Amino acid sequence: MQRIVVLAGGIGGARFLRGLMSAVPDADITVIGNTGDDIHLFGLKVCPDLDTVMYTLGGGIHEEQGWGRAGETFAVKEELAAYGVGPEWFGLGDRDFATHIVRTQMLAAGYPLSAVTEALCARWRPGVRLLPMSDDRVETHVMIDDPEGGPGARKAVHFQEYWVRMRASVDAHAIVPVGAEQAKPAPGVLEAIAAADVILFPPSNPVVSVGTILGVPGVREAVADAAAPVIGLSPIVGGAPVRGMADKVLAAVGVESTAAAVARHYGSGLLDGWLVDSVDADAVAEVEEAGIPCRAVPLMMTDVDATAAMAREALALAEEVRA
Ligand code: GDP
Ligand code: CA
Repeated sequence: MQRIVVLAGGIGGARFLRGLMSAVPDADITVIGNTGDDIHLFGLKVCPDLDTVMYTLGGGIHEEQGWGRAGETFAVKEELAAYGVGPEWFGLGDRDFATHIVRTQMLAAGYPLSAVTEALCARWRPGVRLLPMSDDRVETHVMIDDPEGGPGARKAVHFQEYWVRMRASVDAHAIVPVGAEQAKPAPGVLEAIAAADVILFPPSNPVVSVGTILGVPGVREAVADAAAPVIGLSPIVGGAPVRGMADKVLAAVGVESTAAAVARHYGSGLLDGWLVDSVDADAVAEVEEAGIPCRAVPLMMTDVDATAAMAREALALAEEVRA
């Protein structure tokens, strides 16, 4: 059985995984999920990217939105607002709340996040092994201008505050994964990478999703040293993120929002192959000049079949570079 490891963020990662599972239903897939987006709200631990993967693969996702539960209601949120208790900008529905309550309760009882995630997945049966990148707390913060702090002053805000509340409307100067230096990969993460036949970077955010996972000490080295080919799919198509605001966080790390620049950002030390969208066929030569085999294929995840075709192209490139 083919062992595939995928480093996944939220929506981009989850949708790609659905296509991958359709393309290779018998594969043994381990997902290493980003937890840098995690946030504590109302005393609860919320893990947006892990939940997006779990709900998407488990059939509970709100399809159009791409995050949160289908058939959601918001009674708890309305009641909290009636008490004047926020934040009101983070959409937590009643069904979703239950997940965070169970998670928080188990963490308080002493279980590590990896064990909690496994327990939650016992209900959702996502069909993959879903591992948080780390059991330790890592929280992505974004450095922005602080208009109240005088000329040149900056402040750090939680990634969710930047992304969800501010809609990335101001420039990000730096991305700071607080706690990353002290974090250890969760049990099974390094072992899965070492044992993989193929490692995939889905079209997830290269900075605050895949980049955060690679930033857990030991993970980048494990991926670089892995025997398996590492193949990435560009989240940038035609010079823009397909959805979301990845251009803002790419600018913060000095990377242009092009398919080729993202490939060079990962680098030939990490990537053994890179897929760009057909509209970016011009980028192939530039990526290959950087020492990364590259192909241009359709990369729009319009439906499961189109996404499965992307996954097959990634696996085909893996075989090609392995040979
Ligand atoms: P998040 O945690 O929910 O932001 O999700 P991810 O980090 O997994 O993925 C977000 C990225 O997915 C964005 O930067 C988008 O550019 C990319 N993306 C979303 N839909 C598509 C698609 O259909 N095709 C490609 N190539 N990229 C996509
Ligand atoms: Ca995310």
